[in-house]
Amino acid sequence: MVFNIGIDLGTTNSAMAVYDDESESVQMVENFSGDPTTPSVVQVLEDDVIVGKDALANQERYPDRTLARTKRDMGSDTTYEIDGTEYPPQRVAGYILQKLKEDAEESEFGDDVDGAVITVPYYFGGSARQATEDAGTKFADLSVFRLMNEPTAACYAYGYQEESDETLFVYDLGGGTFDATLVEVTEDEIDVIDSNGDDELGGENFDDELYEFAREELIDRGASDPNESKHTKATLREKVKETKEQLSGREDAAIAYQADDFYEVELSRSEFHDLTQDLVDKTISLTEELFDDGDYEVDDIDNVLLVGGSTRMHHVQDAVEEFFGMEPSTDTNPDQVVAKGAALEAAQYDPEGGNLPTQSITDILSHSLGVETHNDDGPNQFDPILEKGADLPNRETKPYGNPDETEQNLIVNVIQGEADEANHEDNEELGRFVLEDVPGDTKLNVEFYVKEDATLDVTAEAENRDIEGGINISDGIGLTQEEAGRIKEETQDYTSKAVQRREADAETDD
Ligand code: ADP
Ligand code: MG
Repeated sequence: MVFNIGIDLGTTNSAMAVYDDESESVQMVENFSGDPTTPSVVQVLEDDVIVGKDALANQERYPDRTLARTKRDMGSDTTYEIDGTEYPPQRVAGYILQKLKEDAEESEFGDDVDGAVITVPYYFGGSARQATEDAGTKFADLSVFRLMNEPTAACYAYGYQEESDETLFVYDLGGGTFDATLVEVTEDEIDVIDSNGDDELGGENFDDELYEFAREELIDRGASDPNESKHTKATLREKVKETKEQLSGREDAAIAYQADDFYEVELSRSEFHDLTQDLVDKTISLTEELFDDGDYEVDDIDNVLLVGGSTRMHHVQDAVEEFFGMEPSTDTNPDQVVAKGAALEAAQYDPEGGNLPTQSITDILSHSLGVETHNDDGPNQFDPILEKGADLPNRETKPYGNPDETEQNLIVNVIQGEADEANHEDNEELGRFVLEDVPGDTKLNVEFYVKEDATLDVTAEAENRDIEGGINISDGIGLTQEEAGRIKEETQDYTSKAVQRREADAETDD
């Protein structure tokens, strides 16, 4: 049987879910080891690639062959070198997706995965989104029906697909990232309004604090410094994480540590809270910022949804409750809700899925799109034409003059981002084109047209003159011509069974 899955491709853990027609409910698809989530860790060995729990367990043995947290680099030029081969982040994601797909095909839900809806953080720019799609289609032989924003998927899973006029706040604290998102649900749409966050703040920071506490305690008791060897360091880190997770279910726990001797560092939940309250407070400050500069008041929020494994911690739940003055909605498995929402969306692509929610999701721009201009502040200014948050499809035109008032070639530089300085490191250049021999007094109208499929047409036309030019950023916003070439090359290098099979099929078709 053929079926569709929803995939939460997380920084720390990935998960997949399916809408089960029989029980008319969403079910997690367990991996081959029987777990509902799979660590997003890939180990490239000489003759094999290991994904998930086994890769995580052996990371200490193969530190230079283990790739983790690579989602942070999606869409960037970063690559990781192993045995002389460069692995870009989308290829690492491809290995994870390939493993998930294979495991799903071994599950009770069917034999063949037809395709998937994959979730991405709301703040992912065009090239990160494109990289995610490529991870599925080019590296994992997996059709990607669409990408979906993580907070939107969470709203789906929490059952907000048929509400009318609700303003929701999604608080997502995962392993390495924090995302705060404002979402507006109306009778026929789910819209992300605004977001804030920190991609260096998550459960691992809580582990760090607890690690330092345990380390000092162990040294006080006469143990040798766990930092002295990679092995003891890794052992203590693992124990600390276990203890942290236990403290979400009980008031006291102990960090059991075996090195030169056996030690047990006892710790109460409230001691743990004291050690890490600053981190929780930081998430609340970031939440507060969202209301400081936006059009929304805390009182406008009708419901607060908790997402991410780290929201199981009690002081996190307490802080959110205190800030909003209401009890947040919690799922017993906050690390599964994103995959469940994606599964609901994936089921929409199932030809037999008759009795499903029919909500449409509106995509909006996660970054502003515009051009580089010279203005009163000088050269190298970013001038947004389509603002962050604009609905798709969308079309906007803006007039410009020739800055130097003498005839010259003008370069139209298409920029994505929020920084005022055009070539700021937080901005991304999507492409450029040249208008030749533009007289000094020319008026130019520049149109940005971003279509439903997130491709972008930029055109520039002179008023009363035969000058025009343009560029189509067709492989998804953010993919320059150069990147398109790079990804193609990578695909050719890649010789997984899946791709070999696809190539063989293509040859037979010829
Ligand atoms: P991501 O979205 O980054 O992939 P997850 O939502 O899966 O991550 O969250 C992973 C984080 O959640 C880890 O830091 C993990 O230690 C933490 N976590 C999982 N279960 C618990 C728990 N019971 N108590 C506290 N933290 C937990
Ligand atoms: Mg997550």
